[in-house]
Amino acid sequence: MTETGTDTLLDQRTDLRTEHGDHERFSHYADRDKITEAMVTGTPVVALCGKVWVPSRDPSKFPVCPECKRLYELGPDGRMREWAEKSRQESGSG
Ligand SMILES: [Zn+2]
Repeated sequence: MTETGTDTLLDQRTDLRTEHGDHERFSHYADRDKITEAMVTGTPVVALCGKVWVPSRDPSKFPVCPECKRLYELGPDGRMREWAEKSRQESGSG
């Protein structure tokens, strides 16, 4: 485990509104500390793929989110590049 800028990038305002959508059926990747905290407090976390979701106590029940898996396998450097691209493309829709 190495310290990277992951935490900083994920440290954005967590929107408390969660919709019941596809992301609820997936197990996402996020900062381990945040997942642990979320399971205690019941507050949603922001996953690697950008989804806001409440981690399940039993993530093995759900398939891993393909986007999270892809980003996870990119490693910290690859993720930073992806997120930089994403924030550039963001035009306020959604
Ligand atoms: Zn995901």
